[in-house]
Amino acid sequence: MDFTLPAEIKEIKRKARCFVDKECIPLEKDLEPDWIELPSEIHNRLVGNIKTLGLWAVGVPQEFGGVGMGALGYVAVREEQCRSLVGTSHYTPFGGEIPPPLFHATEIQKERYLFPLLRGEKKVSFAQTEPGAGSDAAAIQTTAVQEKDGWRINGVKRFATMADRADFLMVVAVTDPQKRARGGITMFLVDQDTPGINIRRIIEVMRPQHSTEIDLNDVFVSQEGVLGEVGQGFVMAQQFLVKGRISIAARCLGIAERALEMAIAYTKQRQTFGQYLSERQALQWMLADSYMELHAARLMTYETAWKEEQGKDPRIEASEIKCFATEMAFRVLDRSIQIHGGIGLSKDLPLERWFREIRVLRIGEGPSEIHRWVIARSLLKGKLSLGFY
Ligand SMILES: Cc1cc2nc3c(=O)[nH]c(=O)nc-3n(C[C@H](O)[C@H](O)[C@H](O)COP(=O)(O)OP(=O)(O)OC[C@H]3O[C@@H](n4cnc5c(N)ncnc54)[C@H](O)[C@@H]3O)c2cc1C
Repeated sequence: MDFTLPAEIKEIKRKARCFVDKECIPLEKDLEPDWIELPSEIHNRLVGNIKTLGLWAVGVPQEFGGVGMGALGYVAVREEQCRSLVGTSHYTPFGGEIPPPLFHATEIQKERYLFPLLRGEKKVSFAQTEPGAGSDAAAIQTTAVQEKDGWRINGVKRFATMADRADFLMVVAVTDPQKRARGGITMFLVDQDTPGINIRRIIEVMRPQHSTEIDLNDVFVSQEGVLGEVGQGFVMAQQFLVKGRISIAARCLGIAERALEMAIAYTKQRQTFGQYLSERQALQWMLADSYMELHAARLMTYETAWKEEQGKDPRIEASEIKCFATEMAFRVLDRSIQIHGGIGLSKDLPLERWFREIRVLRIGEGPSEIHRWVIARSLLKGKLSLGFY
């Protein structure tokens, strides 16, 4: 049994780490607190360097123009980039991420949406959640009714991240109310400026980002707006969320690692009552607990990425790591803030912002309770092996 990363993954991880240490972390102290998008000259410079280093679109298959390193390479780079606030922001310069449903795009849709997204020229927002349907996504009320040349969409979407700044939306709508999740939900690609789309309000949440509420009033989408097959939207959205959960777990690894690094460094420099904090057992135990939990989350996350690369279905593992890694990072940040004392709560350090971000991540992309439910159902049906084979 060999737990070492393959050589090419190690190499790209090392490259990403050097880049983050040299070019991203030093920027943090000069950025406005709670910035949402980097100043464009900084963003463009970083994007240029990231592309030159081959760190852009690492996990996107080569046939679509990515580096094609698969899930392991993707997790490795994402973990490293998320050691900096620059890498955890919504519009990170490590862009080129493609929501997997777009791999079902037609040739026209690829030209119009997928390739511009991959080049970083267009932005997308995913609109599934509604005021009455979040965890229970099959209960959405937005409808798309077929007409002669296309579809007419009506409904209200909530929490679509950054839809106000997006060029197009991936809208999930009911196309057959009898079938719903079993073949009655479809995904549509809709330009953000299509008549009938109205960003009703921006909901301010704990992390710096725009969560939007959108009215869809008689929005007309041509036949070319259907992404994938009619009726397959629910399944596609679930696949999308599996990828999203692996991505969130990798993000938590990077954030937790940096929070722990900072905590260790601080205990070695800060003295109280004539002794370094590193000599206090109360704080040593915090460091040890954080290390153990980070280690466990990392093994689980890389194993899940590996399974995905092997073509196995990692749905349950994705629920495990989404739930475990977000809760792990929350505890690690909490301890790191505690170790830093008052300065840990300040906006001088990235810890308090990450603390808010991670709190959000325990709800977005499926709250912890839903993931525990998914795991427990599989356990009770005898579908999960309790041993290690
Ligand atoms: C910052 C942020 C960004 C988001 N971005 C997007 C986006 O880009 N696109 C998008 O479509 N959506 C997005 N969402 C929506 C997000 O996916 C939902 O908020 C999430 O799925 C939970 O849905 P809900 O808020 O309706 O809570 P509910 O589903 O109403 O749940 C409320 C509480 O009840 C618990 N609960 C629900 N059902 C059960 C059960 N069966 N057993 C036990 N407990 C249960 C939940 O765990 C939760 O604690 C975002 C949300 C946030 C906060």
